[in-house]
Amino acid sequence: MSDPFRSIAPGQRTIQKPSGLEGRGYLTGTAVELNFYPAEPDTGIVFIRTDLPGKPEIPATIDYVIPRQRRTSIGQDNAVIEMIEHVMAALTGLGIDNCRVEMNAAETPGCDGSSQAFVEALRRAGIRDQHVPARIWSIDQQITVNEGGMSLTAMPGSGTAFELNYTLDYANHPIIGQQVHDFELFEGEFERELSSARTFVLESEVEQLRAAGIGRHCTAQDLLIFGPDGPIENSLRYPNEPVRHKMLDVIGDLRLLGCRIHGRVVAHKSGHSLNAELVRAILAASGKAG
Ligand SMILES: [Zn+2]
Repeated sequence: MSDPFRSIAPGQRTIQKPSGLEGRGYLTGTAVELNFYPAEPDTGIVFIRTDLPGKPEIPATIDYVIPRQRRTSIGQDNAVIEMIEHVMAALTGLGIDNCRVEMNAAETPGCDGSSQAFVEALRRAGIRDQHVPARIWSIDQQITVNEGGMSLTAMPGSGTAFELNYTLDYANHPIIGQQVHDFELFEGEFERELSSARTFVLESEVEQLRAAGIGRHCTAQDLLIFGPDGPIENSLRYPNEPVRHKMLDVIGDLRLLGCRIHGRVVAHKSGHSLNAELVRAILAASGKAG
């Protein structure tokens, strides 16, 4: 029988023991080891560059976001962490409030383009309740951000969870088309619904990205490349895998607020820069902008 009270436990959570994985970054192809460590209550999510002198720490919050195309990256002084969104989504989706994430290179492992490998590493570590009330940001007013035909609106939700509705519009693409999906962040739901949804690009974008030095080592097995007939040399995990991946990205990016969110977010074609803009707008509306 299913438990009617499935919302994520109200206490702060961390992991029980260290756990990690190895891989290569999408952008650079650089080999990297990423290790998750337990952290004290109210630490939040902090990335650490163990390969740099002094092992600099970078909190994964909006104040440390640096401008990037098609990804979310954070930095402080000369230390950067590129493409944090799928790691952030895994931590948020599992309801982990506090975690130290050590890396020995600048870019997170790309894995299969989803959050699955990070979720598996965190599950191996186990989750531990810290018996301190969770920090929860309840959206209490409607806040909208727009940019070039994309929009993102946060509003009070119907219950005590994070709800997300996303409309992906690739109306000109014969296979992707328009995809709409709804999600509510209950315990276990991220793993069932979103964590394995992979990054996708259009075949027509691939040459352009490679010319910019991005993903040169990637093959059609490392992410979804959509041609006119569907994914090239790959198959979909869900019929609407693209919209599910965009939702995974939103969940990872909104975690830059620094805590859990209760409320509803409605997204229309949003990407990383607009997701970050919504976090800034939520902080500004509450008078807590830095
Ligand atoms: Zn993504």
